Amino acid sequence: MNMSKRPLPCVLLAAVLFVLAGCGRNDPPPASMTAGDEASQPADAAQKPASAATSAPAVLDVTGARIIAADSEPGNWFSHGRGYDEQRFSPLDLINADNVGGMSLAWYYDLETDRGLEATPLVVDGTIYTTGTWSIVYAFNAISGKLLWKFDPEVPKEWAVHLCCDAVNRGVALWEDKVYVGTLDGRLIALDGGTGEPVWSVQTTDRSRPYSITGAPRVVKGRVIIGNGGSELGVRGYVSAYDAASGELDWRFYTVPGDPSEPFESPALEMAAATWKGGEWWKIGGGGTVWDSMAYDPDLDLLYIGVGNGSPWNRHIRSPGGGDNLFLSSIVALRPDSGEYVWHYQTTPGESWDYTATQHMILADVEIDGQRREVLMQAPKNGFFYVLDRATGELISAEKFVEITWATHVDPETGRPVETEGARYSEKPVFTLPSPLGAHNWHPMSYSPLTGLVYIPVQEMPWVYGQAEDFEYQPGFWNTGTEMVLAALPEDADNRKAVLAMTRGHIAAWDPVAQTEVWRVQHPGIWNGGLLSTAGNLVMQGNAHGEFAVYRADNGEKLWSMPVQTGVVAAPVTYLADGEQYVTVMVGWGGVAALAGGEITARSGVRNVSRVLTFRLGGEAELPPLPPIERLLPELPELTADAAMLQSGRKLYTDRCSVCHGDGVVSGGVLPDLRYLDKEGHDAWQAIVLGGLHRERGMVSFAQVLSVQDSEAVHAYVLSRAHALKNGQP
Ligand code: CA
Repeated sequence: MNMSKRPLPCVLLAAVLFVLAGCGRNDPPPASMTAGDEASQPADAAQKPASAATSAPAVLDVTGARIIAADSEPGNWFSHGRGYDEQRFSPLDLINADNVGGMSLAWYYDLETDRGLEATPLVVDGTIYTTGTWSIVYAFNAISGKLLWKFDPEVPKEWAVHLCCDAVNRGVALWEDKVYVGTLDGRLIALDGGTGEPVWSVQTTDRSRPYSITGAPRVVKGRVIIGNGGSELGVRGYVSAYDAASGELDWRFYTVPGDPSEPFESPALEMAAATWKGGEWWKIGGGGTVWDSMAYDPDLDLLYIGVGNGSPWNRHIRSPGGGDNLFLSSIVALRPDSGEYVWHYQTTPGESWDYTATQHMILADVEIDGQRREVLMQAPKNGFFYVLDRATGELISAEKFVEITWATHVDPETGRPVETEGARYSEKPVFTLPSPLGAHNWHPMSYSPLTGLVYIPVQEMPWVYGQAEDFEYQPGFWNTGTEMVLAALPEDADNRKAVLAMTRGHIAAWDPVAQTEVWRVQHPGIWNGGLLSTAGNLVMQGNAHGEFAVYRADNGEKLWSMPVQTGVVAAPVTYLADGEQYVTVMVGWGGVAALAGGEITARSGVRNVSRVLTFRLGGEAELPPLPPIERLLPELPELTADAAMLQSGRKLYTDRCSVCHGDGVVSGGVLPDLRYLDKEGHDAWQAIVLGGLHRERGMVSFAQVLSVQDSEAVHAYVLSRAHALKNGQP
């Protein structure tokens, strides 16, 4: 695809800010940037006697047997969720509820990028393998934090317009001597574990469509399993398996039916196609992307994939005759050798709210009614906590883990949600809980077999859904089929205050057997980090208000915390090196809510500082002081637009710009705030927005979806928000 001819949507604004504020990756590093490749830590720690890990790094050698027996090597973190069961529980207890008060920073490493960090680091035999923004891969010495190698796949920044949710990546996979990463532009790359040199690279997607990869691959029986994203923009979802040694495509499983004039790719799709009625979904893509969660049961030999929302969200447009629209919002079990369908469970039939089932899936064996059950657990966006029999897909139980309005309950007989009247919005807008950000998003949960509790990073946030007037498919741009401006924070002060007050997050310690909340830690805002639990009776989480904190796993008592100078969205991991227990977490505010949230996320006051932080008992490193932000409102051009033009600008801004630049032109702390645009920026507005002046920084031309008048209306609205700020209005 010729990117220069293809403007992209949400990234546009992001790109603009990016450009205007000079936050491209070629900019000089922040003052806090670590010099050279050395992590920052006290000299005595750096001179620690060399261990096997420091003097001669072990050759990377990860096998299926080692991942399956992960509990026998608790010092390593082999796969995304530690083991194939994705429990994110560590048997390590050297750091525990009695001594965690003595935990402190061992080392930190400043990354050169300034967007969200979502990765789960993997740790094997003293080396950390992780990813930053723009799909960059890093290997660090786990004790010293020294950078061993780095690989930058050089994703074109213009690709940002294809990204719904920031230039993020959630981590790598390891197999034998290689490291695997999926890139934002759809490549799957195998790297040499010792050097970071590429061994093979394959394009897993059609580059003429707005596909992206942000999820971590998994490797099962010598096959690298990788999905993709893009359902907001319009793609057809699938998951692929590549030979880990050669990069050859082994199989591909599509999650939604394609063009009905073509043959079905699998018998499962023939079954699925009967649940799509009317409409021309295949032109937009249908959706169903597998953008994050997977799990594997080696005894049952089943690979589980979590499937995303519809393209577009709105079923009235996608499938006007109704129907369940399989396999949207489903958990699907496949044979890892062939990609053959085994069973599915659909959490949200006829998905219409962006209620994906891509959220974290945990496999565990629990006792229910006196019987040992092999279960799969998921708390998807729709607000129900599901416990399924993972051999058959049978529903064992489902209960609300947070207040929701779209359904009353899940019918235990049919396994289907019972929707509330009017939940399926039409022209008439519907106030709804939860929002498309989900009652739970991608942020990993954790399950402790010791407490029997699942720790869920829960979100409480409403949304107003309404059908888009005059929906027209815009290839490569956001296509939800909903009226996004309805969900913008209300302009009325009282209403805005009410929505802000109900938009919060918490950790829920959930008993999956009784389906009840055992304890809760309330947070002031949404978009808090993923979780880790350990045998030390600990639960760890970084949060959206800039701290990393540790709680007792059995009762939620806060035991320790540290301010980390930035919002945290990623999940921590823990490992052993040289006989000592360490905790590592990627910190760096970002992701879709941090970009789009406006005042909802801006109120926490955090910004992006991209770092790897590693803790241990008695660590002696200290973070440098955070440089102050200089934000002076520049002289503003006069505002001449009338009310009608401003309303039009607000709607266009919300549709095309807010996903990156923030609701109400309020930056959530990642991209520069457009209200501070200087005279040069205002003068160059049309050249940037329509001319693509800053495309190399990700802000492509939006001429495909904005006319000259449209762009002027957006400009007027942005200017009005800057004037409002200057006049002291919210
Ligand atoms: Ca989505």
